[in-house]
Amino acid sequence: MNDKKPKSHIVSRPPVTVIMGHVDHGKSTLLDYIRKTNIVEGEFGGITQNISAYEVIHKYGKEDRPITFLDTPGHEAFSRMRTRGARAADIAILVISAEDGVKAQTLEAHEAIIKNKVPYIVAINKIDKANANIEKVKTNLSEKGIYLEGSGGDIPFVPISAKEGTGIKELLDMILLVSDLQELTGDRETKASGLIIEANRDPKRGVSATCIIKDGTLKTGMFIASGKSISSTRIMENFLGKPIEEATFSSPISITGFDSIPEVGNTFVSFDTKKEAKAFVDMIKEEEILNQNNNAGMMEKSGKIIPLIIKTDVSGSFEAIEKEIKKINTEEISFEIISNGVGAIGESDLKVASINKDGIVIGFNTKIESGARNLNESLKVNVSTFNIIYKLTDWLKEIAEERRPRIETLEVIGSLKILKSFGSTKNKRVVGGKVKDGKITSGSEIRIMRRDFEIGRGKIIELQHNKIKTKEVPEGEDCGILVDSKIDITPGDVLEAFIITIK
Ligand code: GDP
Repeated sequence: MNDKKPKSHIVSRPPVTVIMGHVDHGKSTLLDYIRKTNIVEGEFGGITQNISAYEVIHKYGKEDRPITFLDTPGHEAFSRMRTRGARAADIAILVISAEDGVKAQTLEAHEAIIKNKVPYIVAINKIDKANANIEKVKTNLSEKGIYLEGSGGDIPFVPISAKEGTGIKELLDMILLVSDLQELTGDRETKASGLIIEANRDPKRGVSATCIIKDGTLKTGMFIASGKSISSTRIMENFLGKPIEEATFSSPISITGFDSIPEVGNTFVSFDTKKEAKAFVDMIKEEEILNQNNNAGMMEKSGKIIPLIIKTDVSGSFEAIEKEIKKINTEEISFEIISNGVGAIGESDLKVASINKDGIVIGFNTKIESGARNLNESLKVNVSTFNIIYKLTDWLKEIAEERRPRIETLEVIGSLKILKSFGSTKNKRVVGGKVKDGKITSGSEIRIMRRDFEIGRGKIIELQHNKIKTKEVPEGEDCGILVDSKIDITPGDVLEAFIITIK
């Protein structure tokens, strides 16, 4: 009834944090210290963290606030966590030893952080050591163009001792401060989506995966799909291995029962029914086939080659033609002269052309032998003769244009936020929403986005503006839509109308 209503369950979401830095600078010690001091011990009979992420509760002012830590030090694991614009970590901690200063892996980690556009905090560690030198670390960083707060920049930093615990409270405070500035939010009412951070097959239990929920809620009885893998949520545990019935952002959980091992770093989405999860997986499979085809095109793009056999009256003409052909060649498509000679086009020229895919035979100021002509009735090789060079090159240019690899690009022409769902039949959904950008037109192909993840595709069958059937709805307007889609569409989802352009 009320458009504002869906907004009310969008709440702030705890940050997912990753710790990075040079080897031996204290990443594991820091993770251990935080784990030992901030997880309510005893609650589950001691800490038996069995997955590579954990959640702590930190007292921030008067509030108890959760923070999730990815227990996967090293930027390799971190950089794998990026798919389709989604990322596992919301905040990175760059640990630098106050004793050793900036090292090679410090800079590599920094580069990964910047590339992934993750806000970060520098933790200057081992300040308890006699030869710790915080100022040296700051100078090192400035020399590399990394400016900390108070040193001409705005990157927050906290001096700590992961061994003794000095500064850890301040570091956790800083994580929450940075997190609040990020305004990380999630919607408890939507179905959960997030990332797979770990997956393995246990001979007894089957395939399990550690998932970080980045949005929504996951309950037992639902189904999750990631890439081509599906699992029920019947066996769902928190990071301590305790069975749970429900989980929300940004909790690390373990789910057992996948039908195949999901890929680490991939996103997952969840559904109420297995049927919907299967429809999603089918879409992924279709997409994969499409991508394979596109990739084949892409590979051809970096050098599609057309083999040429050239016969000329004299060798001087061949040299002139060769020069002209070099001018036509581009990175996308080029002609490669695989054989040339003086005289008429004979049977052997055609045979050479026919065994080379797409081979072409050209004669210049020469004829096609009659035997060759007869043979070509069955071989059907592309053969042409010319007596003017520019006509020959024009013809080749046409062939190059015809055979040039086409690149398909998806262009979003409008997006619409779903405010209401009115119901559905089999493959049809009736929803209502507001056009946020561009325009929405009847007949458009659409992709269904849940937060940042594409969960399915469909087509707009009918559009209604003010209850009147229409062809197009502009930005800022509300409308009703009938969508052809196997995937359920819920309030909060965004439909993006797109066109595929071929260039
Ligand atoms: P990682 O390779 O970055 O995970 O580094 P570790 O956490 O394994 O630490 C490397 C070494 O430095 C270990 O011997 C730690 O005990 C030691 N260490 C880590 N943090 C501190 C600290 O704050 N103070 C001191 N004195 N030693 C530390």
